Amino acid sequence: MKKIAIYPGSFDPVTNGHLDIIHRGKRLFDEIIVAVSNNPHKSPFFSLEERMAFLRKAFKGHPGIRVESFSGLLTGYVQQKKAVAVIRGLRAVSDFEYEFQMALMNRRQNNRFETTFLMPDERYTYLSSSLVREISRLGGHVRGLVPPMVEAALRKRGRRGDQALHSA
Ligand code: ADP
Repeated sequence: MKKIAIYPGSFDPVTNGHLDIIHRGKRLFDEIIVAVSNNPHKSPFFSLEERMAFLRKAFKGHPGIRVESFSGLLTGYVQQKKAVAVIRGLRAVSDFEYEFQMALMNRRQNNRFETTFLMPDERYTYLSSSLVREISRLGGHVRGLVPPMVEAALRKRGRRGDQALHSA
């Protein structure tokens, strides 16, 4: 039977660290569903459609990697997709506490899947979507940290932000 894993996250925006984890996951599972969270209580920097479009473009022509959105409980979604595992990335010890808590709470809800933790290449251990957004907002460059289309989108958003500031 095909082994499906879910990689859930905000991906706001997707970084090369996320891509690295997805490629590693693909070596272990037949299919990866990258599940972009659609949380009505959070206001993301990029819309759900934009976040999904970046990921779809990054994995165009990669069989076995699908991009979907999900809302509500992750455990219900995992069951619906008949996945055997959830993938999460571990960058540093600081990620551990939260991830450990979430994994055990998810197991309590549904113990028919495993949470697997993958470590990215060292180059990406200090990389996060929030840091990328912050650097870009302050005018820094993010080349090599995010796919080129994300870099272009951030630059465009930055320029629009500047215009709004000048016309205020
Ligand atoms: P969430 O809001 O669910 O944490 P993120 O998009 O920030 O969503 O992260 C999704 C998953 O990817 C998490 O498991 C996170 O630890 C992992 N992750 C984020 N950035 C990196 C990175 N640079 N390297 C490896 N894993 C990462």
